[in-house]
Amino acid sequence: MERVALLRTSGRRILQRCGRPRPLVPAASSGPRRRSISSSSSFSSRGSPSLPSRSRLLAAAAPLHCAGRYWPPYAPGLARRLSVPAVSTSPSPVPHDTDDVHEYAAKLGFEKVSEQVIDECKSTAVLYKHKKTGAEVMSVANDDENKVFGIVFRTPPKNSTGIPHILEHSVLCGSRKYPLKEPFVELLKGSLHTFLNAFTYPDRTCYPVASTNTKDFYNLVDVYLDAVFFPKCVEDFQTFQQEGWHYELNNPEEEISYKGVVFNEMKGVYSQPDNIMGRVSQQALSPDNTYGVDSGGDPNEIPKLTFEEFKNFHSQFYHPSNARIWFYGDDDTKERLRILSEYLDLFEASPAPNESKIMPQRLFKEPVRIAEKYPAGQEGDLKKKYMVCTNWLLSEEPLDVETELALGFLDHLLLGTPASPLKRILLESGLGEAIVGGGVEDELLQPQFSIGLKGVSEDNIEKVEELVMQILKNLAEEGFASEAVEASMNTIEFSLRENNTGSFPRGLSLMLRSMGKWIYDMDPFEPLKYEQPLQQLKARIAEEGSKAVFSPLIEKYILKNAHRVTVEMQPDPEKASRDEAAEKEILKQVKSSMTQEDLAELARATKELKDKQETPDPPEALKAVPSLSLQDIPKKPIHVPIEVGEINGVKVLQHDLFTNDVVYSEVLFDMSSMKKEHLQLLPLFCQSLLEMGTKDMDFVQLNQLIGRKTGGISVYPLTSSIKGKEDPLTRIVVRGKAMSTRVEDLFHLMNCLLQDVQFTEQQRFKQFVSQSKARMENRLRGSGHGIAAARMDAKLNAAGWIGEQMGGVSYLEYLRDLETKIDQEWDKISAALEEMRKSLFSKEGCLINITSDSKNLEKSGQHIAKFLDSLPSAPSLETEPWLSRLPSTNEAICIPTQVNYVGKAGNLYQSGYQLNGSAYVISKHISNTWLWDRVRVSGGAYGGFCDFDTHSGVFSYLSYRDPNLLKTLEVYDGTSKFLKELEIDNDALTKAIIGTIGDVDSYQLPDAKGYSSLMRYLLGITEEERQQRREEILATSVKDFKEFADAVGTVNDNGVVVAVASPDDVEAANKEKAIFSDIKNCL
Ligand SMILES: [Zn+2]
Repeated sequence: MERVALLRTSGRRILQRCGRPRPLVPAASSGPRRRSISSSSSFSSRGSPSLPSRSRLLAAAAPLHCAGRYWPPYAPGLARRLSVPAVSTSPSPVPHDTDDVHEYAAKLGFEKVSEQVIDECKSTAVLYKHKKTGAEVMSVANDDENKVFGIVFRTPPKNSTGIPHILEHSVLCGSRKYPLKEPFVELLKGSLHTFLNAFTYPDRTCYPVASTNTKDFYNLVDVYLDAVFFPKCVEDFQTFQQEGWHYELNNPEEEISYKGVVFNEMKGVYSQPDNIMGRVSQQALSPDNTYGVDSGGDPNEIPKLTFEEFKNFHSQFYHPSNARIWFYGDDDTKERLRILSEYLDLFEASPAPNESKIMPQRLFKEPVRIAEKYPAGQEGDLKKKYMVCTNWLLSEEPLDVETELALGFLDHLLLGTPASPLKRILLESGLGEAIVGGGVEDELLQPQFSIGLKGVSEDNIEKVEELVMQILKNLAEEGFASEAVEASMNTIEFSLRENNTGSFPRGLSLMLRSMGKWIYDMDPFEPLKYEQPLQQLKARIAEEGSKAVFSPLIEKYILKNAHRVTVEMQPDPEKASRDEAAEKEILKQVKSSMTQEDLAELARATKELKDKQETPDPPEALKAVPSLSLQDIPKKPIHVPIEVGEINGVKVLQHDLFTNDVVYSEVLFDMSSMKKEHLQLLPLFCQSLLEMGTKDMDFVQLNQLIGRKTGGISVYPLTSSIKGKEDPLTRIVVRGKAMSTRVEDLFHLMNCLLQDVQFTEQQRFKQFVSQSKARMENRLRGSGHGIAAARMDAKLNAAGWIGEQMGGVSYLEYLRDLETKIDQEWDKISAALEEMRKSLFSKEGCLINITSDSKNLEKSGQHIAKFLDSLPSAPSLETEPWLSRLPSTNEAICIPTQVNYVGKAGNLYQSGYQLNGSAYVISKHISNTWLWDRVRVSGGAYGGFCDFDTHSGVFSYLSYRDPNLLKTLEVYDGTSKFLKELEIDNDALTKAIIGTIGDVDSYQLPDAKGYSSLMRYLLGITEEERQQRREEILATSVKDFKEFADAVGTVNDNGVVVAVASPDDVEAANKEKAIFSDIKNCL
């Protein structure tokens, strides 16, 4: 099931509060999930060719910083591996007969404010105002079938009780027309949505949906409109309790505890040092306006929120007068307005727009310093675990579009690639392990700039700050190298023209961009039109030189700007347990203040809430949520063209797809020709290829050359089980893209990386190790479910073992060990890297995948031939089998956290289960009903779900930011019984089937289609098999659920358990059940 994978990079300022984990699968791919676990170093990180720019104006790709309500599963839709959806990228002009539309709009009470043709997205955009209420509507018409709707309210909080966030969760729990527990979940189960989520920002709340199916799209729109304007939660105290907070007391003898989905979600957020740093920085930069408090909710403050305040907040701000509404895509623009008027006409104008205005923060006269403690573990040297970040609020007034664009450009020059000077020099200084702070951030009212380091020694904190200032001062004085400017320019232009938003709908990316201005009553069209300001900026750079453009910006906005806040974060190994104890103390006092009657009443209320949560909605209520019928579903899987040919004896797969003149290519090599002992070096080997330099070019020059000539190159390992085979799939992937005129350069540069890079940079290698270590530690806290999943896989199959060696706890242990050895053993390491290159890169183990239109495919042939000619030949490939596993014991991985990640998994194929398409439907159903209700709704975890890896047969349960441990395991073990006793009517079954097809047919841009087709080829999934699985999905019956019950039942006794959890919870669990035989302290 896909619940959307987007998210912020670590260390960015926290813009929103759901702080979801980074997507583990890169947006642009839908490869097997092994890849995501074994490698986070793909397109979406490090150098980040597909997301090169970090500021709104430049962000052609998915916004890096919008966290949603529902966390993504660690692999989006296993089903999607089998198929891919249609995509429309044809460049035809937009049809419009606007006169007719405006007349119709006027009749419905909408006044046209402005109409503009936006060439950049081949659209016509009309801004309307609903006359009666003042609601503003942007209607964007084009030929993109991936239609998007969004409604956004300005919701500035006055305190940190998390009202906006709790409300964001709660309005989706039933409404006037859809009076069931969670219409949102019904939509997740049974719609073809390509996007469905909600986000809380510091000052606004967004509700976006997307679908390629028009009927489905309007269903989604209606459920969302009804939810925001007429939610049940404002009358239903229990929803507030469930999503926000409540006291839980199962019987009067026990201790009282806090429960609530947002409460636990935010406890997770407050356990992560990077998040704490981002929050503290933002609050300290703007102490006088709404950004001085936390819209997501501080776990210490959330229990102060009353139901009364919660209701008032809704009636004040969730009003059409305070709304901005967005429609985008190829649907009928009249229908959009008709649907809207039905809702908007029910309201009168309100004073909300004035009450929700965001006041600017006045700039400081003096810099400020702040120190804050964060919960650290006992591992390692605490003195070296400090973090420091310097932040600036750049301006009191909004900036003009050209300045903003130039600042975005400057940001890319400073930090956009590993070769960018601010990033490079900070890391080379050895003062810290990894960068924190996200550079320029311009999605809020006033732009900010942040930069710092983590893994810093206590006595180096001031040095970091001084170095930051020194680097910026030097850059202002000396300017940037012209190659660097050219590289940034090409990267940004490439990204804007490619407009590759991965799995994130393009229309939503545009909406969020536009909203960055619109929400502050500025021009919503302006952010959509980058072409003219970009050309102006280019012309200025050409005429005046880059120094004349960028140096004054650095001077004015950073060096001479006194509104500077330096945040120092101190590791505190006692903080987690102290916070825990403080919470217990408060709860103890609450209990002692209660009479026996009060306690009895609380126990009764606890039970009543649980009963309500566990009682399914009646079928009549469920019927209220509109759904498609099976007739609306295409019977055939989505076709991706593939032609398997050969060039110079090497297999070449070609996908003839329209790509707007971009050529995408993957070059794969067989990993199994490498010595087993080198496995854990592989991720660092990949990074070295990209970031070490050759004989003729240092890595900065090499990096700039890649930036100037291509849209980016990445190198990463790929592993997966193959169904029915013992040996896993193991490849190294070199992935790149370029405009069709630069294909020769692309292959030349790939060749250069593979053959000419020299493994001689000891200091850089050291940096790679400490950065990787910092990244792994961050994942352990923020994506513990991914770490647990990898660990379980490593116990259950060979591909999982390989992945864990290169991306799990084993890898973290390896990195820590390696870090201490580099200086003594560098010659050995360098020789090993060289040996790896020799064994990996040869014509014999090579496969090429290429995606573009037929003309470009044909033209590329000669460049591929040349590339292959230059590859060495290996007379005989020596391959070693990769069949290791970790011992299949139950394991606890202890980290300083207030919430846990609990996993359990087993291999269904080994218990005799034969794959049937119904397994997709059933696993999705288990996640959306049983696990959602028990682990999240009544358990209070932020999430709980299962995943069936059909390649390996591993079925895993996972929970996310979970206050429980043993209780969650009991829920997992109850799954089989749940399925056996399940009564599912036809409507519910149809919904489950349609939702599964939605996953299987998930929306993909052409590069992702070509990549998916490659994966199917490698995994041996034929078109016949895809068709068969689809038919099985469509034919799923109640009988299949019962049969699957036996299969998952085998996990109860044969499965392995891995929990990433707090030491206290692990100890308590072992006292009660002696469940964990292995306990590891990892942080
Ligand atoms: Zn949330």
